[in-house]
Formats: sequence, structure tokens, C-alpha cells
Amino acid sequence: MIRVRKSAVPPHSLTSTKAYDGEDVNSQLDADQYNKCYLCERVCGTDCQVEHLKSQRNNPHLKQVWDNLLLGCSYCNGRKSDAYDNILNPLAVNIEDEIEQRIDYSNKQALFVATSDDDAHGKTVELLSRLHNGTKPFRNTKEEHFIEYIISDVYDFQVIIDAYLRQRNPSTENAVREELGIDKELLGFKYWIIKDNPELFAVFGDAMVWNKQ
Ligand SMILES: [Zn+2]
Repeated sequence: MIRVRKSAVPPHSLTSTKAYDGEDVNSQLDADQYNKCYLCERVCGTDCQVEHLKSQRNNPHLKQVWDNLLLGCSYCNGRKSDAYDNILNPLAVNIEDEIEQRIDYSNKQALFVATSDDDAHGKTVELLSRLHNGTKPFRNTKEEHFIEYIISDVYDFQVIIDAYLRQRNPSTENAVREELGIDKELLGFKYWIIKDNPELFAVFGDAMVWNKQ
């Protein structure tokens, strides 16, 4: 999960209709977020939904507020429900700096660590852990597919990183840069692979600032 940069002008249908998920809202969020879910950072394709950062149920007055709308996948949207209204706001906070995001390959888990211990950080870590690792000792089939997808994608990036570290040349450097593109998936995990290695950060740190203000 990383900071999301969204266009400032609310789509017209939010003020001219009673809907929060008009076609103009869908297409603007799709363009702003490169068709990625703001929580899991997977490209959601036809599975994208207009999601309320603060739930409709607890915050009916925010139902059509542009700053409360984000593109999410049905997997994350369903699991977030109305229980996580107070997570960090990815439109206002550099999530990639506030939450450490790594893969524990040997235990087949995603690890999230907050850099502060306030409620919003804690809730964000709790939600991300539930989404990635499931809620019970054994994952169900969907949860298993989810984590396998994440681990496989991050591992592929690690292979590209290792190739660069073995042989540094324009070709291997470009291969890494391509995977750090703003339209690519799972940037939160990729950014922490870069941040964990000062040598990588010195070269690729500039690829991680596109969403900052
Ligand atoms: Zn998702």
C-alpha cells in the first residue's frame, strides 16, 4: 500500500446525481490509480469497485465526497467492510514510509510494521495483515491464491534486483526501473526492498517520489 495521488476536481456525477459510482467516477479513479486497488495494489481489471475510505454505513454524509472515494478490488473491499474507518488516509499520508512492508518467504506471509503506535497506524497494519495473511490459522482457497500471487510477484522483482546487483549496467538498471513504474503492482513491497539496501536506494530512490507532494 502506498500513497495515492488523485485528480483534484470531483467528477460531475457526484454533485449532479445521487450516485457515488457513476461512470465518470469509475473512469477517473481508474486513470488516477492505474487500475490498481489502493489496498493490495493489484491491478483489478473488471473486479474494481468504487470504495469508501470511511464506510458509507458509519459515514453517510461522506457517501458522495470525492476525497472519500478510492478504487478497490472486491476482495479487499469485502474484507474491509465498515470495520476499518480509521486507517491511514492514502491520499494524505506517505503509507510507504509509515508502514514497513516485506515478505517472509519461509513462513509464506506478508509482514507489516508501523513506524508509529497510534490507532490509525495500528488499524492499517491490522487490515493489511488480514488481507494478506487471512484471519484464521489456515487460509481458505481465495486467501491462499491471494498470498501466492503477492509472493510470486515480489519474488520476480527480487530476481530482477539480484540480476542488477550481480551485473550493474544500463540494461539491468532499466529492468529494475521498469518494475518501479507508477503503473506497476505491489510498489509498497518493492519500495521496501529498495529502502532496505542503501546501495539500491542511492540509485533508485528517485523512482519512489512520483506520488509525493
Ligand atoms: Zn485489493
